[in-house]
Amino acid sequence: MTTTRITTDIDYDKPGKQISFLRLPYSDNAHAFGFIPIPVAVIANGEGPTVLLVAGTHGDEYEGQAVLRGLIHELDPADVSGRLIFLPAHNYLAVEADSRCWPDDNHNMNRVFPGDPDGTPTLATAHYVENFLLPLCDFGVDLHSGGKTSEFLPCVYLRRTSDRALMERKLAATEAFGAPLATVVAKTADNRSLLAAGDRHAIAMISTELRGMGSLSIEGLRIGRDGVRNLLRHLGVLRGSPEAYPPPRYVEYPDQSAFTYVATDGLFEPAAALGDEVQRGQLAGRVHSLKDASTTATDVLFQGSGTVVARRVPAPVQCGDYVFAVAAEVNRSDLV
Ligand SMILES: [Zn+2]
Repeated sequence: MTTTRITTDIDYDKPGKQISFLRLPYSDNAHAFGFIPIPVAVIANGEGPTVLLVAGTHGDEYEGQAVLRGLIHELDPADVSGRLIFLPAHNYLAVEADSRCWPDDNHNMNRVFPGDPDGTPTLATAHYVENFLLPLCDFGVDLHSGGKTSEFLPCVYLRRTSDRALMERKLAATEAFGAPLATVVAKTADNRSLLAAGDRHAIAMISTELRGMGSLSIEGLRIGRDGVRNLLRHLGVLRGSPEAYPPPRYVEYPDQSAFTYVATDGLFEPAAALGDEVQRGQLAGRVHSLKDASTTATDVLFQGSGTVVARRVPAPVQCGDYVFAVAAEVNRSDLV
């Protein structure tokens, strides 16, 4: 039996609406005997599935945080059949710092599952979610956007699994969410994400990318708000018939070739835009050396073929930075 240092006054079995904190004990130079207050809310009423709703896994991704903070106040327990567990600022210290990762430990919360109860705050929080929240849940949504450094075509993100029944539940959840695009990542993708943790617990968990660029997009907000509510209707947690959205266009990252990287430092001048259809070997852009004006710019070629679904936002690049993500069309029938 694993243990955690995190405590909370939330009773996950109690009906009604509770809004409080997960308290992660913390002591440093500025806070001798304190706790890190990770916001949590539960809205529960009667029989029905339990759904985990997460935002702020990366602190500079705002649409999901706004969607969940709104929903916590808009919903009454009488609206719900089942249980909603909200984590609107999953990596609270990163949210507070307005940063993708909390600068003091610099851990990407979506690469630390199953976490460590004795690790840094990011690791200890992930450990609590994996070991104390996911076992309570049937479904989950982890709302991401591009943050300050990326811009995505708004989409649902989902992870392939060889469990056919689980994959069907994920696809049904994806289609209920209603985003125009659904990006599939391989089951061999990094196993330290929250989506991978969901797979370990056989939870139908999906994620999103709702634009980004260090801003809060109206379009991403609308897709997120409508998507979460329609998914909850689809799951029977909220009353009413779910909207029958047109099916999304499914695309997939086949392997690492989905990402086009730069091999030199400098200023990246793009030759393609988000949504473009591109071919492997096509010019993706050029990197201008910052210090050596006598050299010509270095060409960067796309490594994969398909639709440009994400791009790096800041123009200054370092060797190893991704500049574009390209996903190839895939048939829904090939995903199960
Ligand atoms: Zn993210």
